[in-house]
Amino acid sequence: MEGSLIILGAGESGCGAAILGKQKGYNVFVSDMGEIKPAYKALLQQHGIPYEEGGHTEERILCADLVVKSPGIPDTAPVIQQLTAQGTAIISEIEFAARYTDARMVCITGSNGKTTTTSLVFDILRRAGLDVGLAGNIGNSLALQVAQNDHKYYVIELSSFQLDNMYDFRADIAILMNITPDHLDRYDFCFQNYVDAKFRITRNQTPKDAFIFWSEDPVIEKEIKKLCPKATLYPFGLNKEHNMAYIDGENFVIEAPNALQLCMPANDLALKGQHNKLNSMAAGLAAQILNIRNEVIRESLMQFQGVDHRLQYVATVRGVRFVNDSKATNVNSCWYALESMTTPTVLILGGKDKGNDYSEIDQLVKEKCHTLVFMGLHNEKLREHFGSFGINIIDTDNLHDAVTGAFGAAHEGDTVLLSPCCASFDLFKSYEDRGEQFMQAVRQL
Ligand code: ADP
Repeated sequence: MEGSLIILGAGESGCGAAILGKQKGYNVFVSDMGEIKPAYKALLQQHGIPYEEGGHTEERILCADLVVKSPGIPDTAPVIQQLTAQGTAIISEIEFAARYTDARMVCITGSNGKTTTTSLVFDILRRAGLDVGLAGNIGNSLALQVAQNDHKYYVIELSSFQLDNMYDFRADIAILMNITPDHLDRYDFCFQNYVDAKFRITRNQTPKDAFIFWSEDPVIEKEIKKLCPKATLYPFGLNKEHNMAYIDGENFVIEAPNALQLCMPANDLALKGQHNKLNSMAAGLAAQILNIRNEVIRESLMQFQGVDHRLQYVATVRGVRFVNDSKATNVNSCWYALESMTTPTVLILGGKDKGNDYSEIDQLVKEKCHTLVFMGLHNEKLREHFGSFGINIIDTDNLHDAVTGAFGAAHEGDTVLLSPCCASFDLFKSYEDRGEQFMQAVRQL
């Protein structure tokens, strides 16, 4: 027996960790503060793993030898504080799962672009015929895959919350897309704490490992100078100088050392917008480091379909184009969405504000938007910020009014863009729910 393993949070990662833990000889118990989804209950029952929901039995949890914590549980939760105070090891599901596999790990983090880049890397590796699994915030949990169907490679999307509880984990290839303020409510409203969490992706890396990063991000640039990561550095950016992937006139170029140069018209990239050029660079560099042929990389970059709710084209209704960017849950991602707009735009934004500073999009709003539609239960901050801009404002507290209002204000040739800058939880279950409802409302126009 390995001892007692307590899993806090019975979602995808928690259930995967429970199954792997049991397989490796731990005495496992799963505890969830809320309700456990029926599918996960069934999974735990099927594996004979005991669980509780609707609260934590402290006596049992405090006796744990090891705790695997869901990334959704903040460090301020009372049970976590008690465990920390008594010195119990608390790790993430990824850290736990990685102990039981020799696979090569390609890990992606950043404030924005994680899912897109992760999906793109996965697509390239799969096209190249590698035995690869997709894990982290998307797909099945790493732990479940390690337990049931281990792969030779994993492409893992890592949020800062997952990185928070990583200690011995080592990424063979780490990708850091960018760092802009997000989730500050979970980091004592201190940006540096969030930056530190993101840089944990380079922890334990050696010169044999690769660190791919956006060199033009001032936060990353400063931090690299300070920390001098041990991994071999692979910078990318829009400018040619000092970068191993870059834009050269009309061309998109990737040239990792030891790989042949890949050069293709930037217009041929399947994913549009400046941010997606950066995502494509990061993915392409990772693929070259893994010795994947340029033809395969090029094919993927030209054919990749994109991920739902990220600048997803919905429909054109009487000449008005609708785009669903519901996943834009912070101001920076909305900036990139606006930047990629090539027509006059009606922007729908609002929701649960995470301490946003909207001034980042002021310039683009002035340049591209003739109407702003606020959609949220608390639009005061938006009204205060944009009220003096002298552009048309429609104030709503539900999706139906937002969509019909936006459509009414749009002219033929315009784009209506849902790119909310905010989390969705005031009016919706999730950003997916918000995006689905938006698309449905558009189709009913
Ligand atoms: P994440 O998984 O980090 O949230 P996604 O790939 O899901 O990132 O994209 C989230 C949002 O961020 C999308 O709305 C998209 O328009 C925007 N975005 C995507 N890539 C980038 C990037 N490299 N930089 C800034 N914004 C981006």
